[in-house]
Amino acid sequence: MTRLTAGDPGSGSGAWPRPGQGAGTDGGGRWGPTRRSCPVAEPGCGPSRGPRMLNVPSQAFPAPGSQQRVASQGRSKVPLKQGRSLMDWIRLTKSGKDLTGLKGQLIEVTEEELKKHNKKDDCWICIRGFVYNVSPYMEYHPGGEDELMRAAGTDGTDLFNEVHRWVNYESMLKECLVGRMAVKPAVPKDCQEGKRVLNGMLPKSQVTDILPREGPSSPSYDWFQTESAVTIVIYTKQKNINLDSVIVDLQDDSLRAEAVIKDHSYLIHIGLSHEVQENFSVRVIENVGKIEIVLQKKENVSWKYLGDPLEKHNSFIPKKDTGLHYRQCQLIAKEDVTHDTRLFCLKLPPSTHLQVPVGQHVYLKLSVTGAEIVKPYTPVSDSLLSDFKEPALSPNKYIYFLIKIYPAGLFTPELDRLQIGDLISVSGPEGNFKVSKLQEVEDLFLLAAGTGFTPMVTVLNYALAHVSSLRKVKLMFFNKTEDDIIWRCQLEKLASKDKRFHVEFVLSAPSPEWNGKQGHVSRALLSEFLQRSLENSRVFLCICGPTPFTEEGIRLLHDLNFSDDEIHGFTA
Ligand code: FAD
Ligand code: NAD
Repeated sequence: MTRLTAGDPGSGSGAWPRPGQGAGTDGGGRWGPTRRSCPVAEPGCGPSRGPRMLNVPSQAFPAPGSQQRVASQGRSKVPLKQGRSLMDWIRLTKSGKDLTGLKGQLIEVTEEELKKHNKKDDCWICIRGFVYNVSPYMEYHPGGEDELMRAAGTDGTDLFNEVHRWVNYESMLKECLVGRMAVKPAVPKDCQEGKRVLNGMLPKSQVTDILPREGPSSPSYDWFQTESAVTIVIYTKQKNINLDSVIVDLQDDSLRAEAVIKDHSYLIHIGLSHEVQENFSVRVIENVGKIEIVLQKKENVSWKYLGDPLEKHNSFIPKKDTGLHYRQCQLIAKEDVTHDTRLFCLKLPPSTHLQVPVGQHVYLKLSVTGAEIVKPYTPVSDSLLSDFKEPALSPNKYIYFLIKIYPAGLFTPELDRLQIGDLISVSGPEGNFKVSKLQEVEDLFLLAAGTGFTPMVTVLNYALAHVSSLRKVKLMFFNKTEDDIIWRCQLEKLASKDKRFHVEFVLSAPSPEWNGKQGHVSRALLSEFLQRSLENSRVFLCICGPTPFTEEGIRLLHDLNFSDDEIHGFTA
């Protein structure tokens, strides 16, 4: 398909490569042909393409006579120390250790900066426009440290192409990625276009005020088109971006996309210049922190510009200052779970992409006797035992909530009166729980009271499915009576199905027949329950329920010598 990009390729949003273009730079500091359309082993990617931004002398590499050169094969391997095999390297890259020293942030690297990192314990190398901190890899490199050091602090692309053209370095060095080489700033030709948004560029004056002075570096965006689609690309400059880091709403040809980057939000908010279909797709290329939103054109015409900027467009602001954005969702099912708790299923509009991260909540908004009432609720999965039944509904289009109806409450009786098909406003996600807290955990303890069980649902599902170090998950579930226990049957089934999971119920107002644990949260109950599977196992605790329960629980956990780092209290 033809690419019908508007604007001058050199005048784009500056720092990051255009879609369809790649990471290599030509002599003028512009980005050269794409990495994807020109795979690593293909002739034409190599040095013959002309000078690169940093010209490393194109001597034979390894140098003739060097210890790495073997007459017939061209290069030899050096013996690696024990514990430094390829498998050991892969294990290290998967351990979650910060291998760049930049805490997951991707930066733009200037030539001056690159040159500074030229020592064994601080060695950055640029390969095809991407800069890697190869110090952690030194001892694992089959060609030896000296070979890597030849390119220390420089553009090693030419050297790399001679020796390693076939090596999948992008995957091998993924965790060592520091960022991209900075492009020399180009003055956008389209500044005269006033408010129009051309290829992701706004006149500088419109954006400078809203870029933060501290915090993660500011993302940028760009767009390109084919005959049938328009793709908006957000360069977050941050690793570990997932599909739940981006929320997109398309309403009446206005597009709002919010990329959540740590505690900041980057907003794209545009009145599109042409009509698009309501279905769109969102892709995330995690290791380079790129988000792509692919819109389908209603008519196959070439767009001259993307659209007009709307409120807070192209801003990068602390998340707490973005305000809540709502979309209307339809109630499509409601099911009794206990005498006063129901499972609600809401359907997101087709023109929304929203995935609530594990343990986070959203706000539901209803009009109650003319006033707008907003309350927070924590989405759950539709079941704890999803592989016991066919997934009836496609994921990510539906949000489930377990909600207790308080007859004298303000919001929940109104919610309970909604009929199937009725609409309710749902905000984007909030909350400070991060799944990274579960990395490498061996013993996970969950303390829940009443509907404080809701954040535990996704935490539990996530831990059992994704935390390979996990040995044990124990849930202590506090309720007033047996009738109040949410999903008791599912919890018991899960415990019999997965030996890592244990559940214990504690009742504060039990019937005389109850022969399980009784009372409120106490030191005695907790110290017996919180037994580690190994003496020094890595442990993490989550606690949620009525405020006095959570506060007392956290106080007791401190008494029992658990540190703040090991505890997450879910609060408003
Ligand atoms: P309210 O009007 O708040 O009343 C609640 C109860 O308090 C009623 O029994 C009422 O009679 C009583 N009450 C109210 N005012 C007084 C008063 N002045 N004196 C004495 N008693 C009073 N709940 C869920 O069910 N599921 C969830 O997933 C969930 N997630 C949450 C996530 C977060 C982050 C937080 C903070 C709360 C969450 N909640 C959840 C609780 C939810 O937000 C509401 O607080 C709850 O649904 C009650 O709302 P309501 O307006 O119906 O009741
Ligand atoms: P509930 O009144 O049925 O009580 C459940 C259990 O909590 C009781 O059996 C008791 O063991 C314990 N408990 C209650 N009051 C206590 C007190 N004063 N001191 C010590 N323990 C106490 O609970 P519910 O009506 O289901 O309320 C659940 C609470 O959880 C709500 O306040 C809700 O706001 C909160 N919640 C918070 C979040 C969150 O912050 N993310 C999520 C969901 C629910």
